[in-house]
Amino acid sequence: MKKILIANWKMNYGPIKAGAWVRAFRRERLPKDVDIAIAVPHISLAAARASLGRASIPALASQNSFWAEEGPFTGEIAPAMLVEFGVAYGLAGHSERRIHLGETDEMVAKKAVALQKAGISPVICVGENALQRKKGEANKVVRTQLQAALKDLVGDGRAPAIIAYEPVWAIGTGKACAPEDAKSMHALIRGILEKKFGKTADNIRIIYGGSVDARNVGEYLSTTGIDGALVGGASLDPRNFGLLCRAAVIA
Ligand code: PEP
Repeated sequence: MKKILIANWKMNYGPIKAGAWVRAFRRERLPKDVDIAIAVPHISLAAARASLGRASIPALASQNSFWAEEGPFTGEIAPAMLVEFGVAYGLAGHSERRIHLGETDEMVAKKAVALQKAGISPVICVGENALQRKKGEANKVVRTQLQAALKDLVGDGRAPAIIAYEPVWAIGTGKACAPEDAKSMHALIRGILEKKFGKTADNIRIIYGGSVDARNVGEYLSTTGIDGALVGGASLDPRNFGLLCRAAVIA
């Protein structure tokens, strides 16, 4: 399965800086055998697309989207609008949105389905917080979040989604989850996917996110069951992200 690296800029870079980031990143030497995408703020999609020109790498991703196709939902963005910019992947249920905006499992499920219907691959984010891990509830939390998010997704042979395991305590903290711990959570996730989608599950990438950088990415990507990474802080500098992409593949 081809691995994937997705940069998540979070709430950084308006159109001017986004354009500059893409132009700088295009000068980086990039590995061919890995998919690379950037999840940019909605407002910067047009600038990122323009700076990409005819280039298809990196692919564009959204950080959020709404579940309805159109209508009275002030401030929201429908997946079909993202398709106009050639968005290929869409994050759904990032923990920062669950925590700060009250996104529930039910909302994440509806967003995932809407993305899939629009032809955008949902990147469903799941993960336990520090207290849940301490209490031994990590598996239960991830299972609940994942089963809820997958509820209405259809698996027709093609991968219905990408799953990002992102332990909340590892995001932006520098306390990356040990690859062996991530490996066992990925195995649990793989089991849930197999139960839900059968053979189709073989095509679903399960990626890890949480304090991944150029130094540790190789270790994650060479761990069985880890099919890529979602990268926040270490993607903000285009040269650093280029370095990370190269380090990911040498592993
Ligand atoms: C993220 O935003 O999804 C993330 C994993 O952030 P960081 O790499 O900064 O921990």
